[in-house]
Amino acid sequence: DRLISAEAQGREPRVDYAIRPRRLADYIGQPAVREQLGIFVDAARGRGESLDHTLVFGPPGLGKTTLANIIAAEMEVDIKSTSGPVLERPGDLAAMLTSLEPGDVLFIDEIHRLSSTVEEVLYPAMEDFQLDIMIGEGPAARSIKLDLPRFTLVGATTRAGLLTSPLRDRFGIVQRLEFYGVEDLTSIVARSARLLGLEADPEGALEIARRSRGTPRIANRLLRRVRDYAQVKGDGRIDLAIASRALDMLHVDQHGLDHMDRRLLLMMIEKFDGGPVGVDSLAAAIGEERDTIEDVLEPYLIQQGFMLRTARGRMVTRGAYRHFGIEPDDQGVF
Ligand code: ADP
Repeated sequence: DRLISAEAQGREPRVDYAIRPRRLADYIGQPAVREQLGIFVDAARGRGESLDHTLVFGPPGLGKTTLANIIAAEMEVDIKSTSGPVLERPGDLAAMLTSLEPGDVLFIDEIHRLSSTVEEVLYPAMEDFQLDIMIGEGPAARSIKLDLPRFTLVGATTRAGLLTSPLRDRFGIVQRLEFYGVEDLTSIVARSARLLGLEADPEGALEIARRSRGTPRIANRLLRRVRDYAQVKGDGRIDLAIASRALDMLHVDQHGLDHMDRRLLLMMIEKFDGGPVGVDSLAAAIGEERDTIEDVLEPYLIQQGFMLRTARGRMVTRGAYRHFGIEPDDQGVF
């Protein structure tokens, strides 16, 4: 597993109760999202209504699940969580929907992975709070219609473009999460350290933040690994020297790139002359899924200015050559 994968890993808790922010006020960064949601929540509560259906999109580990839970907490309602791949049949969704109390939040992670038959059950549920499904098969099949309580669907996806347009159109609120800046990530590391009872000085927290790929989940994971290093190689305190030695040992470089990022960029430089190259060829060359490249690797590399997505394919930038100390070849794309 990748140390800096933004996905939850192995025995690592998917939800870290000790450090996950519970209220909007504890949610660090994402000022536009915080401001807008704050207003929408206050307004809905003022009217005594449920919040409009809300779509949150952005790369893994940026706080979509956290936000769904915060919405429920701020609305003072319960949340039921599931995910696109788990809802295999219409009946699975029907069971979730009929268990909701008025006002509850239904959170569907990876909502772009719903099958089309399940998605069709979701449309009338979102729009008219009606459940309309077929049960049984063949001659015994019949359709059932039920009224549902008004609820709030919170959907999360890595890319809004993956959603079908009828589904996307049924969300009244759409929020996009951006990679976090180093300052916000430093605050997140400092907050997590405090909650975990660790001593981390500002330079130590900053060093972890700088190498966390703009992603809170990675920041929290690196903090734990640096904690181990500090405990064994130091006196437990996290300062700049300890943090940078630990992260060097873990092969997370100054930009937060790890071996997979480096492999991807180097492959583009060495095998594809810097591009343009199609994402499928890249996936085959580095032996990764296309989705991993599109959802996990390239968003950060593009945001950091190492890579470009063009109509003809992916290209590396001069910045990427510089990162590896390679001179861009004059006959190349530049
Ligand atoms: P996603 O659902 O987008 O993959 P999560 O909501 O599970 O991401 O967030 C991953 C972890 O990062 C959470 O457990 C939480 O501790 C931390 N986190 C995310 N967003 C924030 C934030 N804005 N402020 C502080 N911590 C955050």
